[in-house]
Amino acid sequence: MSKRILTAALALALSFSAHSQSISAKAREIHNSALVIDTHADTPQRFLDENYDIGSTDPKDNGHISLDKAKAGNLGAEFFSIWVDPETNQGHFARHTLDLIDSVYEQVARHPDRMMMAFSVADIERAHREHKLAALLGIEGGHSIENDIRLLRDFYRLGVRYMTLSWSNTNEFADSSGDINNPKVEHHNGLTEGGKQIVVEMNRLGMLVDVSHVADKTFWDTIAVTKAPVIASHSSARALTNHPRNMTDDMLRAVARNGGVVQVNFYSAFIDETYRKAAEAQSKDRDAAVKAYTDQLKAAGKTVTYLDEDRIEREWAARIPRPPLSSLIDHIDHIAKVAGIDHVGLGSDFDGVSGATPQGIDSAADLPKITQALVERGYSADDIRKILGGNVLRVFREAERVSHELTK
Ligand SMILES: [Zn+2]
Repeated sequence: MSKRILTAALALALSFSAHSQSISAKAREIHNSALVIDTHADTPQRFLDENYDIGSTDPKDNGHISLDKAKAGNLGAEFFSIWVDPETNQGHFARHTLDLIDSVYEQVARHPDRMMMAFSVADIERAHREHKLAALLGIEGGHSIENDIRLLRDFYRLGVRYMTLSWSNTNEFADSSGDINNPKVEHHNGLTEGGKQIVVEMNRLGMLVDVSHVADKTFWDTIAVTKAPVIASHSSARALTNHPRNMTDDMLRAVARNGGVVQVNFYSAFIDETYRKAAEAQSKDRDAAVKAYTDQLKAAGKTVTYLDEDRIEREWAARIPRPPLSSLIDHIDHIAKVAGIDHVGLGSDFDGVSGATPQGIDSAADLPKITQALVERGYSADDIRKILGGNVLRVFREAERVSHELTK
């Protein structure tokens, strides 16, 4: 190929890639007609630890969520993750849970004209009509309830509408995928009897049961005992990216039979096998770097937060090329094919992945690019609206119905 033809071909390729990033009128119309719901963002760490204001307009801020970014992406509802680091909060998990819950309410109090707390499907729909962001609460990790079912009920009363049965740590009642191969951790072979009671109590309350993060056996025990459809608030497909945080095809089909929904995680290491392997290869050195930094802070008498670790994690994540957006779309596509179009949605993990999202997805403002990509793959407007939020809304409504049945 002559140099001139090569240049012309390159220019065409570049303009095509620029074009594929732009949003067509059709995709824009579909996206703006949807009630878009994301079921996992770790922004409360920022609210609490750095006093981040969701009203921020700082163009240099590298966070995924602000009110402006949510508006630009037509994000209608966000489940804010109430995640208590089990290492740095030993002895006071419930107190830290309360602090994080407070941090979300305080953001709403600062911006009552632009966002509102939401506790039900009706609230989400009302927020949408009023053009406000619906803020919901989801606890990430059963350790938050300190093995006390009364605390579970208290958190429900404070507005918590889902609980991930475990985070990466096995707790008193549920095994986690994060430490299932660690012989030093005492495991239960899935859910304990108490854990099964917790699931049924969540059904009775109308709190969504979240199976992200749990060990495979915990997943199957949960499916067997739950009376309401479950969610996986932020998990992708293991057949495409072989990470234990992702769900096997058998699990995807089981969620479909249960009537639940799998909300695809955007984290690069969960959606792209090349990225996952590169991240795994650097994990030892990366973990050592994080530890050296946090040890240094501790020695200086400082309290170490998630954001301190995140600073180092970002430097390491930036060394691996970001996967293409098509990797994320492949996961949506796979789950839609294996589980069915009614059982897939979005669980970004925004503000919880140290910037490791696919190309083009830098914040909630980029959500229309997902719609554009789905249009390009031939998805209908109705199917896209299901993925963007319709499916999880249906599951939430069904959990509310089951709760009414069980409390009659
Ligand atoms: Zn998580």
